[in-house]
Amino acid sequence: MEPYQLLYPQDALIPLVVDSPHSGEWYPDDFGFACRKDQLAQSCDTLVHDLFMGTIVMGGTLLYANFPRCYIDTNRAVDDIDPEMLAEPWPTPLKPGQKSGFGMGLIRKMALPDVPVYGRKLSVAEVKRRIDYYYMPYHEALKAELDQCHQEAGVVLHINAHSMKSVGNEMGTDPGQKRPDFCISDYRGTTSASSLTEFAADQLRRFGYDVRINDPYLGAEIIRRYGRPADGRHSIQIEINRALYMNEEYRTPIGRYTEVKQHITYMLMGIRDLLTG
Ligand SMILES: [Zn+2]
Repeated sequence: MEPYQLLYPQDALIPLVVDSPHSGEWYPDDFGFACRKDQLAQSCDTLVHDLFMGTIVMGGTLLYANFPRCYIDTNRAVDDIDPEMLAEPWPTPLKPGQKSGFGMGLIRKMALPDVPVYGRKLSVAEVKRRIDYYYMPYHEALKAELDQCHQEAGVVLHINAHSMKSVGNEMGTDPGQKRPDFCISDYRGTTSASSLTEFAADQLRRFGYDVRINDPYLGAEIIRRYGRPADGRHSIQIEINRALYMNEEYRTPIGRYTEVKQHITYMLMGIRDLLTG
């Protein structure tokens, strides 16, 4: 299977690119994990690409990964690797960050608190293979779409779409805390004009959702890599509370799914109207 899917609109293109890096549930044959698959699935942003399918109806481009984020996480810096996971030294210096400390760096160490993903150390060659065949192609595809839109329109809005557990656990900064319906992030106004971030939040608030900005998430590698608001490149991260649209244990949509998807489509419609003014 290809590492990602890229969907284009049938009609005129607008400078909107949505990407869902964590909703893939195709497990490559060489994964070699030791925990249960349903434990791994708890890290997946199940169905998020489908919730944002309205993107292509609005004239935007939709990119989503087919592989799971627990195999390799495109929303981490490529050197955010915990050296403890490796069978041999990495050939260049590593920079494991806070996420690696929580067991969720580039290569995920913990499926859940106290549930390690692997019963073995990983070779440098297999991690490099995941970077070359999954991580890099995903980023190259995303960058190409953003560059193309920016070149044609002089501006591009990028939405990096995710879902979050309804309550934080020990693998984050908010254990035991109930999360809002949506969290929209722009790394404290550095990856997007704040007015755009607020606009997206207001589009969802009109349906009664509790939407917070940069709380509990600031955003991560993807929006930091591509958001350059001074150059007309705006990247925001949207996290949807999973309890809004699915049974978190069984990973299946709940009755409200269609309504939530419709509200997200209305938000995209508002963004389309803003961009095409
Ligand atoms: Zn995610």
